Amino acid sequence: MKFIGAHVSASGGLENAPLNAKAINANAFALFTKNQRQWFSPALDKPAVTAFREACEKYGFTPDSILAHDSYLINLGHPDAEGLEKSRNSFNEEMKRCELLGLDRLNFHPGSHLKEISESESLARVAESINIALEKTHGVTAVIENTAGQGSNLGYKFEHLAEIIDKVEDKSRVGVCIDTCHAFAAGYGLKTAAECERTFAEFDRIVGFGYLKGMHLNDAKKDVGSHVDRHESIGLGTIGADCFKWLISQSFTDNIPLILETPDEAKWAEEIALLRSFGSTK
Ligand SMILES: [Zn+2]
Ligand SMILES: [Zn+2]
Repeated sequence: MKFIGAHVSASGGLENAPLNAKAINANAFALFTKNQRQWFSPALDKPAVTAFREACEKYGFTPDSILAHDSYLINLGHPDAEGLEKSRNSFNEEMKRCELLGLDRLNFHPGSHLKEISESESLARVAESINIALEKTHGVTAVIENTAGQGSNLGYKFEHLAEIIDKVEDKSRVGVCIDTCHAFAAGYGLKTAAECERTFAEFDRIVGFGYLKGMHLNDAKKDVGSHVDRHESIGLGTIGADCFKWLISQSFTDNIPLILETPDEAKWAEEIALLRSFGSTK
């Protein structure tokens, strides 16, 4: 089964996310479980949790088709004690929210060394942050996203993801999300089936498909290796449709949320239909 959807709005109530996903004929979705521009939010009350769970059930969304995303403020590899502490507290709270909502995975960007500590010191902090969060929660997997490598952001190499996983104690609750735009911007070839084969063989060798808990399907505005994180609608960017055709034909994209974070929301229903058509013609 291919779970294909988009990062939908949850404004007005978390239960609106599955509703918004259904409206674009998605069978997967991503959401922020709180305001992503704030460090902390009021705790979820029981009616909010119930409304969300009931809406998911009503529209047929199971946890393996939902990918929660954390706040962009969080930096789990922060060089300063204070920034690290705040990030860890905020992340723990986000993990707890997922647990309450019955969600089994939380997607986050690894973090940034802010040019104050080395990459590997910062990656070790990310791993330690994950260990702390996993100890405080149950049933939620921490899903590390690869990045475009803008500024001092970590996660632009598959080796970074592997280095974090290596230091996580409970390997059953750590995973990764590969964003196609980020991988391409970071320098991984994705324009042709042959390039995709090579890139994902490398991913499997360094990280392993067993850790793949979701994907962000985004075309890109800039060319390979630009290190610039600018998404484009599927088929209209510098990656092109062949990559997504190839991805949909692969069994490693079965049964995980495949999420559009493309800029034109009005095109999402069409993009989802396009991706589905790739599956029926393989
Ligand atoms: Zn992404
Ligand atoms: Zn991005």
